[in-house]
Amino acid sequence: MIALDHVTKRYGDLAAVDDVSLTIPSGEVYGIVGQSGAGKSTLARIVNLLERPDSGSVVVDGTDLTALGTADLRAARRRIGMVFQRFNLLGSRSVRGNVELALELDGVPRAQRRARAQEMLDLVGIGHRGDASVHELSGGQQQRVGIARALAARPSVLLSDEATSALDPETTASILDLYRRINEQLGLTVLLITHEMDVVKTACHSAALIEAGRVVESGRLVDIIRTP
Ligand code: ADP
Ligand code: ADP
Repeated sequence: MIALDHVTKRYGDLAAVDDVSLTIPSGEVYGIVGQSGAGKSTLARIVNLLERPDSGSVVVDGTDLTALGTADLRAARRRIGMVFQRFNLLGSRSVRGNVELALELDGVPRAQRRARAQEMLDLVGIGHRGDASVHELSGGQQQRVGIARALAARPSVLLSDEATSALDPETTASILDLYRRINEQLGLTVLLITHEMDVVKTACHSAALIEAGRVVESGRLVDIIRTP
């Protein structure tokens, strides 16, 4: 479970995240949805510990992340796998090499890396492209590599920041299917940050709607999606 309690992050006079309290249950696909500038990325960076809030606490699986020192932070960060909009893959490495690098950085011994990387690529449906260069892949396939890389360190949470925004609707649908499958097969909590309500409606069990740094609505999808 991820629990945000009265979290605030300011940039000068602007409260990018303004007194946000949220409970994200384990094992759900949870959406954080809002317009550009609403504070979603700032919230993502706080959950991923790339940024510390000015006040409030962030508790992941019982550990208060805001209370950790630098070394513990690094370990805690591994619990959260990040998937990015622009994929952030290394073009100089093969598809499998990108996943192996994540395992290397995570301290997995060389002898195990190849098999683990292949296992992750199989899981996301591109096991047959392990030797390809990332440039040879479509956007959707590259996104799958990004997801395999994020899963490699066996995180308990997968955090996707606008990860389908650069994809066409059909590819987006297949990636959202993949998130649902990962959630069901691995029991991972999936946090989908998006400006698209349709993404939330398609893939999420629950969601929070963010406006100007504040949560204006949150809960189960069936409760928050009301027809006007
Ligand atoms: P979103 O991801 O919903 O588009 P962001 O979290 O990126 O929103 O931004 C929320 C607000 O905080 C915006 O007004 C943005 O300009 C501002 N902001 C984000 N990061 C910084 C920063 N590092 N310095 C100053 N302002 C920032
Ligand atoms: P997003 O796709 O989340 O809207 P942006 O292009 O707004 O991303 O921001 C990209 C990066 O720039 C983020 O790391 C964000 O923190 C930073 N940023 C956004 N707004 C500002 C700002 N007003 N001043 C400084 N940095 C900012």
